[in-house]
Amino acid sequence: MATDPIITELNTWLEENWDPDLTVEQWWDRLGSSGWAAPAWPTEWFGKGLSRDEAVGVARAVSAFGALGAPGGLGVQLAGPTIVTHGTDDQKRRFLPGIVKGTEGWCQLFSEPGAGSDLAGLQTRGERDGDEWIVTGQKVWTSTGHYADLGMLLARTNPDVPKHKGISYFGIAMSQPGIEVRPLREMTGRALFNEVFLTEARVHDDARIGGVNDGWAVANTTLANERSGLGAGGSGGAAAALPGTKAGHLRRRAGDFANPKGSARASAGGGAGIAGLYPLLVDTARNNGKIADATVRQDLMHLYTLNEIARFTSARVAGARAVGKTPGLDGSTAKLAMSRIVRLVRDLGPRIVGPAATLHSYADGPAKVALAEAAHISALPIVTEAVLFAPAPTIYGGSDEIQRNIVGERVLGLPKEPSNDRDLSFKDLPKNAVR
Ligand SMILES: Cc1cc2nc3c(=O)[nH]c(=O)nc-3n(C[C@H](O)[C@H](O)[C@H](O)COP(=O)(O)OP(=O)(O)OC[C@H]3O[C@@H](n4cnc5c(N)ncnc54)[C@H](O)[C@@H]3O)c2cc1C
Repeated sequence: MATDPIITELNTWLEENWDPDLTVEQWWDRLGSSGWAAPAWPTEWFGKGLSRDEAVGVARAVSAFGALGAPGGLGVQLAGPTIVTHGTDDQKRRFLPGIVKGTEGWCQLFSEPGAGSDLAGLQTRGERDGDEWIVTGQKVWTSTGHYADLGMLLARTNPDVPKHKGISYFGIAMSQPGIEVRPLREMTGRALFNEVFLTEARVHDDARIGGVNDGWAVANTTLANERSGLGAGGSGGAAAALPGTKAGHLRRRAGDFANPKGSARASAGGGAGIAGLYPLLVDTARNNGKIADATVRQDLMHLYTLNEIARFTSARVAGARAVGKTPGLDGSTAKLAMSRIVRLVRDLGPRIVGPAATLHSYADGPAKVALAEAAHISALPIVTEAVLFAPAPTIYGGSDEIQRNIVGERVLGLPKEPSNDRDLSFKDLPKNAVR
């Protein structure tokens, strides 16, 4: 098989630069400066001008090499591409280095208690005060908000126009008196996301990404990047280390976060990692004799088939892109495919593991390992995490119902749901309670 020249170049660079004894900060400084942390970005802005699919290949190759990948979290994945597309050169100089080198962590301040699927119905207000904006409202589901230095904020800056036309997009500093972040504990035992209260928080106008009241177009760039990173053929390869000043990872040893060379770590959190659960479940079923159960073998085959279809779909999309076609629907279909895989793993995993699947360690690290050893099932923590986290991927980045609506309207040509909210001004629309 011909060797990919991009991966050859990357591996040469990694041979010369990867050192597990660097701190995370030192390593990300090298990776970010070289263009390999965000290779799909333009060469003049910390990237290498590669296609998204080539960039996915780069992320996987960094991981396979045994080096720590690009900063995880929402900076490289969402904030960076949004600023690359809509930011001014000053904003690119201000924000992109911190994103690509992981020195500043980002969160996404989009969803609100009354605005999730109907994101354009958001009620957080932004009012102009000279060179600044004063922001008041509540956000929810804010992943890694407790570790973030900056937030991608959507605020309503004009309630007198239809809802999509009065929203602006800001990069707001999270550490300020007007912002309170309260973690929400999930049933996995972790607190991945938060509710965020903004009470007269301030953001300078020079941190407004895109035009005043033009934030919906900017938000769509963020959402498109979110969807394309979430499907069953999603990117994978993001580092386990968290960027930014608050998570405390920057000063730790880079090698402690890297996968062993040649390994593919299975993760329960969806994306490409979910495919990695298949061999783990097969091994467990072989070891404990459950493979003798014909219905287990049948469902393992079903899982294998869904994974393969997802892989083929990704290949088809990559092929279409390579010849200059835009495969419009890959985001929605890939995300729906991932939901099916996640649900099957949720049901099949406990059947293979047996009653021990009721044992979940709510503490990370040694406690998880000790529980798995006591139960004599090494896959136990991954399976219980997959079960308890299973609802999440079917909701975030647009729920399954919303993805089906998109497929219904854009592929099947079904009529849109009747509504008058594209014409009426936002202030005249019926709403849930306002804070
Ligand atoms: C793990 C996780 C992490 C998240 N992280 C973030 C984050 O970092 N930042 C952020 O801003 N948000 C985040 N979200 C929020 C996420 O984007 C929303 O949960 C999602 O958009 C759904 O909105 P909602 O929860 O308000 O549900 P709703 O919109 O209230 O939906 C409730 C139910 O109604 C259905 N529904 C709604 N509208 C329709 C319709 N028109 N047709 C058919 N069915 C419909 C939905 O499918 C769902 O089943 C996260 C969510 C999760 C689960």
